[in-house]
Formats: sequence, structure tokens, C-alpha cells
Amino acid sequence: MYNVVIIGSGCAGLTAAIYAARANLSPLVIDGYEPGGQLTLTTMVENFPGFPEGILGPELIENMRRQAQRFGAQFHSGAVSAVDLSKRPFHITAAKETFGAKTLIIAAGASARMLGLESERKLVGHGVSTCATCDGFFFRNKEIAVVGGGDTAMGEAIFLTRFASKVHLIHRRREFRASKIMFDRAASNEKIHILTPVVVEHVSDVDKNSVERLHLRNTETGETSILPVEGLFVAIGHEPNTKIFRGRLDMNESGYLKTRSGSKTNVEGVFAAGDVQDHHYRQAITAAGSGCMAAMDAEKFLEVNGGM
Ligand code: NAP
Repeated sequence: MYNVVIIGSGCAGLTAAIYAARANLSPLVIDGYEPGGQLTLTTMVENFPGFPEGILGPELIENMRRQAQRFGAQFHSGAVSAVDLSKRPFHITAAKETFGAKTLIIAAGASARMLGLESERKLVGHGVSTCATCDGFFFRNKEIAVVGGGDTAMGEAIFLTRFASKVHLIHRRREFRASKIMFDRAASNEKIHILTPVVVEHVSDVDKNSVERLHLRNTETGETSILPVEGLFVAIGHEPNTKIFRGRLDMNESGYLKTRSGSKTNVEGVFAAGDVQDHHYRQAITAAGSGCMAAMDAEKFLEVNGGM
């Protein structure tokens, strides 16, 4: 039985763990599918305050983890396979073990949707990115591509024109899902070149561990072509890792958990932090901030309801 169980070990979960551990609550962190979260998929993080020279994403996460351990947080690896939130204490099953929890903090994150190519997966962090805010800076005066036809792709492409010499916006259909205003902004930007109806079939060069060319196919004519670029931003949406909470916790139509008064969900004693409840900012620093809020809300809850 734990005072606080935290699901997820990205920025939000680890910050919650640091705060809960320092409040003497001896939290248990369940690592989840992607231990360390999205920061482990990036290279240099230059916008997390406190690191004037930047810090590698995996190193930042490792530091947070050690910081949480130093104050007594425990870790359990494995993804959560079942939850019972019908009564307190809650029960959470992960990697065949079941834990009791007086409070639960869900910081399971959101996973960027990927195209599903083997070459794309191998080059993540080496020219393939899912976050323009994080990695755009590395593509100063370079020619790059963004894939997607929604508002995120438009926003990323427009943002990337600050750095890149040219941005190819690749979308699989001629019609765009993006709002008209966002599409018009992208289409009228002279650095953005729109390519439709086109899909990316392969990213080269895996052997050189860097992005050099995209192999494209026109979905109407079947014609193939090669586009030389040095970066590929995949902006085809995110999916919050909330499937297991469907029907148990309130979420919006895209599956993001709804929170109120800080980090509270609709079930008393269950709190949410980070990208699992934020489809707007999605930054390491905002995730960390909301992790802190969730730990403080859990501490307050335990104080009022007993169990510390
Ligand atoms: P989205 O609206 O779901 O768009 C995803 C895009 O990616 C679609 O154009 C889709 O193509 C494409 N796509 C999906 N899977 C693909 C695949 N396997 N291969 C190639 N293309 C693929 O997602 P989003 O752009 O992230 O937006 C999510 C929500 O946040 C939306 O409600 C959006 O309005 C909102 N948002 C708003 C702003 C803003 O500034 N107001 C900014 C960002 C996001 P199809 O169109 O062919 O399905």
C-alpha cells in the first residue's frame, strides 16, 4: 500500500515523484511503456530553464530520476495493465504485480503518432523529430520537411521557417484538415512549399545515422521521387496514453484527461499531470510544473482524508 502511486516516468511523473518524496510520502513510480517519456526521444534540450548550455534529454530525465530516488521514491518497471478506481484505496496492476494506492497521479504522457516506417524510427533524434519547438533550432539555414495536414503540421511548418531555409509541407491528401486560417498562413509563407497528395515511404540515410533524403510517392499517380532534406518533422498528431482509463475518468473527445482546480480528475484522490491532460502546451517545463501541482494536490488530499 502506497500513499501515492505515480503512473509515468517522464518529466511530469518524475517531478511529482520529487515533490511527493520530499513530502515524506514515499511514492511508487510505475515506469510505463516509454520509461522517461518523450524527452528520451530527443537530443539536446535548450529551453529547459537552468541549463544555459542545454542538456541532453535522456540526461535531464536521468537527473530527475536520481533526484526522486535520493528522497526515497521507488520505481517499478512495466506498463499498467489494469486499474480499479471504484473505491479507495485504488488498485493498479503493472507487470503482474498489484499495488494499493491511497492517491494516484496519472502522468502517462502522450505519444506522438509516427508514420510507422522502420527508417523513421531509427532516425528519431538524428534528424527525425516530432517537436519543432524542441529541435527547430538545429536546422538553421537547412532544407527540411514537415509531414501532416492538420493544425499541428501548419503550426510546426510556420514555426520552422524561422530557422530553415525551406520547409516542404508533405500531406497525403489534397484537402487539408487544418483550420483555414492556419492553412492560409502556411500556404502564403514563401519559405513553405506544399507537396500533395504525397506520402513518405522511406527516410535515408540510416547507415549514416542522419536524414539526407526522403523517398516520396504520389498517392494518385503512383509516381515516386526523391526529396533532399536534412530534417523530417512528423506532425500527424499525438495520442494520450489514457485507453486504460476510458469509462472511468472524464476525458475530452481526443482522449485527454479533464482536470479542474489544478490537477484533480473527476475521481477524488486521482490527479493528472503532463501531456496526458494537456494537448496545448506539451512542453517539458509545463509537464514538470503540472507534476509539481499534482504532488501538492495529492499531499493536501492525504492530509484532509488521512493516510499519511
Ligand atoms: P489532426 O488534426 O488529427 O491532424 C493529423 C494530420 O495528420 C491529418 O492531416 C492526417 O491526415 C495526418 N495523418 C495522420 N496519420 C497519418 C499518417 N499515418 N500518414 C500521413 N499523414 C497522417 O492532429 P493535429 O494537427 O495534431 O491537431 C490535433 C488537434 O489540436 C486539432 O483539433 C487541432 O485543431 C488542434 N490544434 C490547434 C492548433 C491551433 O493553433 N489552433 C495547433 C495545433 C493543434 P488526414 O487529414 O488525411 O487524415
